[in-house]
Amino acid sequence: MIPLLKRLGLNKYNVDKTSHIEVNTDICLTCRDKPCTLSCPAGTYEALPNGRIEVHYERCLECGGALVICPYNAIKFRFPEGGVSFRYG
Ligand code: SF4
Repeated sequence: MIPLLKRLGLNKYNVDKTSHIEVNTDICLTCRDKPCTLSCPAGTYEALPNGRIEVHYERCLECGGALVICPYNAIKFRFPEGGVSFRYG
């Protein structure tokens, strides 16, 4: 069996020019544990020293995990025009 990171490395990405993820980072200021940064397998959400979140949308695997785990409903998501093509089932 191929390890997860190698499988993810087989994916093909067609990155959009604009982000398909919007985060209300004012809400993030009050979110102490920032679970989106821990749950995303692709490192899409980065906690900044000022308490806000930076979104690296080009890394997104479109799994929806951050939408589920965000306790404050601070994330708006739409599927990107391009997005990821999974090459390993
Ligand atoms: S879990 Fe939600 S509220 Fe908390 S830092 Fe992430 S996006 Fe912001």
